Amino acid sequence: MELTHMRTWAEIDLDALEHNYHTLRAMAPAGCRFLGLVKANAYGHGGVPVGKKLEELGADMLAVACVSEAEELRQGGITRPILCLGQTPVELAPLLVDLDVTQTVEDLETGKALSQAAQAAGKTLKIHVKLDTGMSRLGFLWRAGGDNSRLLEDIAALCALPGLEAEGLFTHFADADGSEAYTMDQLTRFLDAKKALEERGIGFTIYHCGASTAVLHYPCTHMNMIRPGIALYGYYPAPELAGLDGPGLEPVMEVKSRIAAVRKVPAGTCVSYGRTAVLKRDSRLAVVPIGYGDGYPRQLSNRAFMEIHGTLCPVVGRICMDMCMVDVTDLPEVKAGDVAVVYNGALLEQDAEMVGTIVYELLCDVAPRIPRVYVQGQGKKKL
Ligand SMILES: *Cc1c(COP(=O)(O)O)cnc(C)c1O
Repeated sequence: MELTHMRTWAEIDLDALEHNYHTLRAMAPAGCRFLGLVKANAYGHGGVPVGKKLEELGADMLAVACVSEAEELRQGGITRPILCLGQTPVELAPLLVDLDVTQTVEDLETGKALSQAAQAAGKTLKIHVKLDTGMSRLGFLWRAGGDNSRLLEDIAALCALPGLEAEGLFTHFADADGSEAYTMDQLTRFLDAKKALEERGIGFTIYHCGASTAVLHYPCTHMNMIRPGIALYGYYPAPELAGLDGPGLEPVMEVKSRIAAVRKVPAGTCVSYGRTAVLKRDSRLAVVPIGYGDGYPRQLSNRAFMEIHGTLCPVVGRICMDMCMVDVTDLPEVKAGDVAVVYNGALLEQDAEMVGTIVYELLCDVAPRIPRVYVQGQGKKKL
């Protein structure tokens, strides 16, 4: 479809992705591997195109939440190692082997089933062993100061299983943008586990624990692979982290919408469902074809702003499923067909705060019906 025919679209700036990639990579020590998070459709940016770009840039590994996401990447032609972070039903183990996906494992039983499936296929399945050091999500639970002998035995047995290649050991921080003490506690547990395993002769090729916050804020967590997600897409997980990277991250996505109509409406008129807004003056309202069916949160009704002709204009009345109204009274030149910027870096951060969530969620919510348009190189600003 021609861009001019799209009601609403998400512009994905692959140059910004490239900039962020290089910026984050430069923060890690030389030789450190780079795993790019492309779960949840690459945080809404499109799994395959983003995965391909990261592959081209030299990312060593990509990570997804589940095997179907890995399948999509492989079908899209991506050949880089892919780590599946979530659990995969053992019945799907042959698929993991087929797709050559590296699976996260956090218990011996699952490891045994995967080992059998790999052997049956006559192949080797790579695994990364997950440790729970304080997130209480997935992983072998490491107890600080407690007896971890059972855990060490299980991991040793897991690593010895035929058909499996235990390539990595990792953990995930629960409060990296909150408590430094808690994060360092988690790191200590991870390092203790690493050491205890090494003392039993069990070593891994790759050790990793740092997501975006840790990449930016805690170089001591980088190990030999970093694992950023949101920073790759141009956002700081917390405001105080802004600038820690030096050059500054660049937001990759902008959501834009083409104004469907501009209407003159007299003072005193009610706007949209529930009549939550009443116009105080004779107004011009732009009808913008984006709504909560596109992932634009209804809680932003009467609160959000969009950028039209470089000016911030307020959303008036309730956001509908497919449309909403924006006050353009002060911009007499605005007409149907003009572009409204719904999300850019600043608007998205503001909107997330207004809704009481994080930018991650609003990015993931950008609905499948919004086409992703990829831009890079010269001429991209013409859109
Ligand atoms: C999502 C995720 C990341 C990336 O987190 P960001 O905060 O987006 O950088 C890293 N590791 C794991 C295990 C994750 O689930």
